Amino acid sequence: MTQTQAPGSVTQGHNGHGNGLGFGIETGKLVGHLIGGQWVESTGGKHFQTTNPATGETLADLSEGSAADVDKAVAAANKAFKSWRLVPAPKRGEILFRAGQLLMERKEDMARLMTQEMGKVLAEARGDVQEAIDMTFYMAGEGRRLAGQVVPSELPNKWAMTMRDPVGVVGAITPWNFPVAIPSWKIMPALIAGNTVVIKPASDTPLCVVALIKILEEAGVPAGVLNMVMGPGSVVGTALLEHPDVPIISFTGSTEAGTIVAVEAAKRLKRVSLEMGGKNAIIVMDDADLDLALEGILWSAFGTSGQRCTAASRVIVHRSVQGALEERLKARIEQLRLGNGLDSGTDIGPVINKGQLQRIHGMVQAGTKDGTRLVTGGSIAAGGDLGKGAFYTPTLFSDAKPDSMVAQEEIFGPVTTLVPVDSFAEAIAVNNATKYGLSSSIYTADVNKAFAAMRDITTGIVYINAGTIGAEIQVPFGGTRGTGNGHREAGQAGLDTFTEWKTIYVDYSGKLQRAQIDLTEDPAP
Ligand code: NAD
Repeated sequence: MTQTQAPGSVTQGHNGHGNGLGFGIETGKLVGHLIGGQWVESTGGKHFQTTNPATGETLADLSEGSAADVDKAVAAANKAFKSWRLVPAPKRGEILFRAGQLLMERKEDMARLMTQEMGKVLAEARGDVQEAIDMTFYMAGEGRRLAGQVVPSELPNKWAMTMRDPVGVVGAITPWNFPVAIPSWKIMPALIAGNTVVIKPASDTPLCVVALIKILEEAGVPAGVLNMVMGPGSVVGTALLEHPDVPIISFTGSTEAGTIVAVEAAKRLKRVSLEMGGKNAIIVMDDADLDLALEGILWSAFGTSGQRCTAASRVIVHRSVQGALEERLKARIEQLRLGNGLDSGTDIGPVINKGQLQRIHGMVQAGTKDGTRLVTGGSIAAGGDLGKGAFYTPTLFSDAKPDSMVAQEEIFGPVTTLVPVDSFAEAIAVNNATKYGLSSSIYTADVNKAFAAMRDITTGIVYINAGTIGAEIQVPFGGTRGTGNGHREAGQAGLDTFTEWKTIYVDYSGKLQRAQIDLTEDPAP
């Protein structure tokens, strides 16, 4: 294996203000994979680039991985698993505490790197890093919990108890929209539980994952415990799915790719956790505080340029307030400023790349042809410097039928759609009638409607009088239907994904005791 640029100390990097990108990453120097504690070039020698979506500039040249690189990374992870699983969990936690501290110290540099690589505005990039900090500290604390149970046995002089075991080598496949937070949602619970990891980051945002990994290295994660191979999903992702020594895949991404992952994993009886697409709705009832709802819609629909899995791409509005809401939304949307996320005056950054820009535009055009009324937006923004990047004008549709394309398909851009309804019952029915099931919200002043909504909404996350976004890491995150496969990330539920429950019986009676058969025994030892 050829070694690539030295990783550099995470405390020595530039901060993204100058030519360097921080974290030892410098333009013009190849960034490699991390395999067994070494930063190395691909076996096949292929490269790819990551680009700033606001400017079109190339940020870095990276090694493009192959199945052979995945083999090496899995071998390293498998070797490291033998000792890492035996490191006491509180000691693993101490390493994560150090990582959390380093993340806090480097939050600004990491956020600036993220804005350059992914495009989201700086304030939101800081939030993305903060989510990783929260997850790191939360899971570090789990090192002193990771509790099982001791429960009564039905037989005398016998104990029944449970403990969490690590699963083994975790294959983590991540998207570009939360390029630090989502990898942390997989890496931190996996490591604290004693697993080792091979992560494949999205090809649009590998540098963010490189930065996160360098922090974990500096915090003391031993060689081989955390490995990274970059490259296309069809090559590197597939190699992870097919590898016999990777018993668990944790995937976040589109429902299309997640379905492939599920099928391939099922053929090999792998454990697989899927976090996929969404078509989230905000319900605005006739008694809602419209000012509050307006702010929630703007933030949920257009934050991160609409590229959140929880983005509110539908607004189910009671017909009696549709006109007022539409007028105010239009006015506010037209004031939103597009631009480079590093500029403090920017409200909305670019979308991730030009291909996605064309995809969004194609869907908006199809929505218009479909007969849905376009209120504002609906074009690629090309004025001034915007033409160099991938910018889309914030877009509002109205009078959409609940089953229309724009009200059903995940557009994943700064586009939202008003769907009028006539009653609370209709609002709930429309909310639930999509192939996805991640996040929903309802704005209402009626406590009875709020409670009925909590009961009847069938998405994994429900907000009352708040937008569809703003997940916190101490509670489960995930969705129903085409959004997930029953697993949840974050909180205690996240640990369930990365551990096997082991049940242990200890019989100290000194004789054969037959469960379900020997029902009346002398309790004396
Ligand atoms: P994507 O599905 O294109 O890619 C996600 C990851 O999967 C990437 O690393 C990609 O290289 C890899 N991949 C693609 N095809 C693969 C294959 N055949 N085998 C193995 N790996 C493969 O998604 P994206 O464009 O990066 O992200 C956007 C999508 O992610 C949206 O649909 C969004 O809703 C979803 N998302 C969901 C959540 C959630 O928690 N539910 C969070 C963030 C994003």
